[in-house]
Amino acid sequence: MNQQLINSVPTDLYIGGEWRNASDGGRFDVYNPADEEVLASVASATIEDAIAAVDAAEAAFADWAGRSPRERGEILRKAFELFTARKEDFARLITLENGKARADAMGEATYSAEFFRWYAEEAVRNSGDFGYAPASGARIVVQHKPAGIGVLVTPWNFPAAMGTRKIAPALAAGCPVIVKPASDTPLTMLALMPLLEEAGVPPGVVNVLPSRSAGKVVDAMLHDPRVRVVSFTGSTEVGRMILRSAADCIVNPSMELGGNAPLIVFDDADIDQAVAGAMLAKMRNLGEACTAANRFYVHEKVKDAFTEKYVAAMNALTLGNGLDDGVDVGPLVNAESRDKVVSLVADAQDKGAKVVLGGVAPDGKGFFYPPTVLTDVPDDADMASEEIFGPVAAIQAFTDEDEVIKKSNDTEYGLIAYVFTRDLARGMKVSERLEFGMVGLNRGLVSDPAAPFGGVKQSGLGREGAQEGMKEFLETQYVSVEW
Ligand code: NAP
Repeated sequence: MNQQLINSVPTDLYIGGEWRNASDGGRFDVYNPADEEVLASVASATIEDAIAAVDAAEAAFADWAGRSPRERGEILRKAFELFTARKEDFARLITLENGKARADAMGEATYSAEFFRWYAEEAVRNSGDFGYAPASGARIVVQHKPAGIGVLVTPWNFPAAMGTRKIAPALAAGCPVIVKPASDTPLTMLALMPLLEEAGVPPGVVNVLPSRSAGKVVDAMLHDPRVRVVSFTGSTEVGRMILRSAADCIVNPSMELGGNAPLIVFDDADIDQAVAGAMLAKMRNLGEACTAANRFYVHEKVKDAFTEKYVAAMNALTLGNGLDDGVDVGPLVNAESRDKVVSLVADAQDKGAKVVLGGVAPDGKGFFYPPTVLTDVPDDADMASEEIFGPVAAIQAFTDEDEVIKKSNDTEYGLIAYVFTRDLARGMKVSERLEFGMVGLNRGLVSDPAAPFGGVKQSGLGREGAQEGMKEFLETQYVSVEW
């Protein structure tokens, strides 16, 4: 069944509606992180292929931008329906190449499909503005036009959703795109292409270029003046490189970068609600999420009660192959990710943290790491400032509200923070003082296609989802009219 699914996925480059090999014939292997076996060999795009994809997108642009918003919306709606009907297969494919457990993969598949539905509805809501110039009496007409060709670069932690979160608004806005999926997980994005064809997306409107030479291929596209938008989700480090490349041709950037989320539990919090929220905030996608709670600050008065219940909830999770029944936590995506978690835990222990659950990677095949809880994690532990990106909760006690807000903000990141308190007024006041693009107040999950997702500081530029997500692919034009 798995082999049949893998065999059904095209593995070449998708340019102008055709499947083709890389110009130099290069390919690379994609692995299953649960058993380290090769799943498939995928074509690796070159600079020449990248320019061919820009040519194809340019050829498709005028027709696509000229379709009525309703027609674009209906094609997106069809994509939503087809994706929903094939959700099980997409979820299985996500687990095969990324490792995440089936419940997480199904959650991602649902979330991915929802971007098609949301932007099917937004495609017909591209309104402008009209005004009178105060002095001259000229009319001010403002319209929002498709910005042009978009280059979309996506990470491995949500192989489908990070793609659909960009593709759907771009298509709604009338822009053709070139997607560069992560090398660890290109299969899901390739599998999406026949579905988009079936939904009615014309050739050249969406192109996909897996590549082992991400830097060169993306840089070449950003130096082609026909490319007008770059939408990137990934690490802050790579985001900086892409911004530098984008600077030369002044390409519009949309950047969804790393996070270092604090999760604050006040002494008046509903502890069961806080534990459930913290489980979601930490363990969705086994901690491999930019939104993952990285630093737990729990009020001294409730620290023991919270920790006891949280450890019990973590201990109840089953580690194993994400495809197996009853498994909650699959393997991490690759050896490097697993080794990073191992070294972050060792560093925290050396600096005085206590391991109260887990903390030892099992021997054998697969990049597994168990649900782990550390308490008394000191501020100088590396995991207090770096993304853990694994199933490790780092708990620290606090006593003072000002102090915990200061500590929470003491990071170059500003993606998301979580706050648990029964006092909503306090929750809102604290939220306002937190320097983060998003806050989960008594909630451990905020991602929603209808809400503006994104960070401040070095967590990003721009927003995805909501109406804002489509604006990333639109340019404002002002016409000064005399009549
Ligand atoms: P990454 O290493 O930054 O890679 C992301 C993408 O960029 C991949 O497709 C990668 O290709 C490509 N890339 C690598 N080097 C490049 C370069 N020099 N120029 C252009 N593209 C390049 O990130 P990741 O490890 O896949 O993902 C984890 C990171 O993503 C975390 O930091 C996480 O917080 C962040 N993230 C953020 C959000 C958000 O919405 N804010 C959501 C999810 C994840 P290859 O795979 O071929 O190297």
